[in-house]
Amino acid sequence: MAEIVVRIHDLVKRYKDIVAVDHLDLDIKEGEIFGLLGPNGSGKTTTIHCLLSLLSYESGDITIFGKPMTPTSYDIKKDIGVVMQNVAVFDQLTVYENIDFFCSMYVKDKKKRVELVKEAIEFTGLEDFTDFYPKKLSGGLLRRLNIACGIAHKPRLIFFDEPTVAVDPQSRNKILEGIIELNKNGSTIIYTSHYMEEVEQICTRIAILDGGRKIAEGTKEELKQIVKVTETIEIETAAIENSVLCEIRGAEHILSAEYSDHTLTVCCSGGSHNLMSVLEILKNRNVMIGQVYSKLPTLNDVFLEVTGKELRDREG
Ligand code: ADP
Ligand code: MG
Repeated sequence: MAEIVVRIHDLVKRYKDIVAVDHLDLDIKEGEIFGLLGPNGSGKTTTIHCLLSLLSYESGDITIFGKPMTPTSYDIKKDIGVVMQNVAVFDQLTVYENIDFFCSMYVKDKKKRVELVKEAIEFTGLEDFTDFYPKKLSGGLLRRLNIACGIAHKPRLIFFDEPTVAVDPQSRNKILEGIIELNKNGSTIIYTSHYMEEVEQICTRIAILDGGRKIAEGTKEELKQIVKVTETIEIETAAIENSVLCEIRGAEHILSAEYSDHTLTVCCSGGSHNLMSVLEILKNRNVMIGQVYSKLPTLNDVFLEVTGKELRDREG
C-alpha cells in the first residue's frame, strides 16, 4: 500500500457567510497525480491554501507526510513545491535569477543549485530566455517560469493551481507533459483545474468539487460509471421509418433512440458493440446513412449527472 502523503479530514473553511470548503475529506497517496476538478468558485484554491497553512480554518485536520501541518511545519514545507494560480516572480530578476532565488531558499549548496536550476530551465523549455526579465515574456513563458521557480528544488509533493489558464496550446502541452515527467521522477502532484479534458488526460485520481463539497471521487473510469448513458451514437440519415426506430429501441443496451434534424441519436447503457448492433439493424432495413459518430462520456457528463449543471464553458 502506498503511503498517504496528504490527508484532509472534515475540513471546513468559511469567508463570513460563504462556506468555501464544506466538510471535505481527501486522502492522497504517494505517487499520485491527484486532480481537484471544479468550476470557478468551487473551493479549489481555498483548499490548497488551507493545506499549506496559509489560511486558518473553522475545523478539520490536515496531515502531510503523516504529520500535522501547521504554519511552522518547516520540516514539511521544505519537501513541498508550490505553483500558484497567480504568477509570483520578481520583475527585477532575470529568468535564471528568479529560479535561482527560489531554489536558494531550499538548497544552500551553490554547485548543487547550478545543476538544479539548469535542470529546471531545460525542463520548462526556457533555455532561450534565461537572460530575459519577466516583463518581456509571453503569458505562456511566464507561467513556465512560475513553474520552474516552484519545482527546481525537486520537492516530494507539488501543488499546481490552474497552471494552464490563459496559456497558448504549445505552453499548455509543455506544462502537462512536464507534470507527468515530474510525477515519473517521483513527485506526488496535486493539480487543480476547471478544464475536465486536462484532468482526464493527466490525473490518476480525481475529486470533483462543487460549492466547496466533494461530489464524486475516483479514477476517471470509476467516475464515468456514475453516468447512465455510456455511449451516445449519432447517425446522419435522410429518413427513417418508425418501425426501424422501434427495432433499435428493442435491442440490448439501448436506452433510447430518437430521430430529428436528419440525425438518429441512440443512447446506450453498457455493452461494447452498440454501434455495430445499430448499424446492423440499419443495414438489414436498407436505411441509407451518412456520417456516424460515437461519443463516450466525459467528466462533464459526470458533473451533470451529479449536480444537474454543466461544468463545461465556465470561464472566469
Ligand atoms: P476556486 O479556486 O475553485 O475557483 P476559491 O477557493 O477561490 O474557488 O473560492 C471558493 C469560494 O470562496 C468562492 O465563493 C469565492 O468567491 C470565495 N472566496 C475565495 N477567496 C475569498 C476571500 N478572500 N474572501 C471572501 N470570499 C472568498
Ligand atoms: Mg482557484
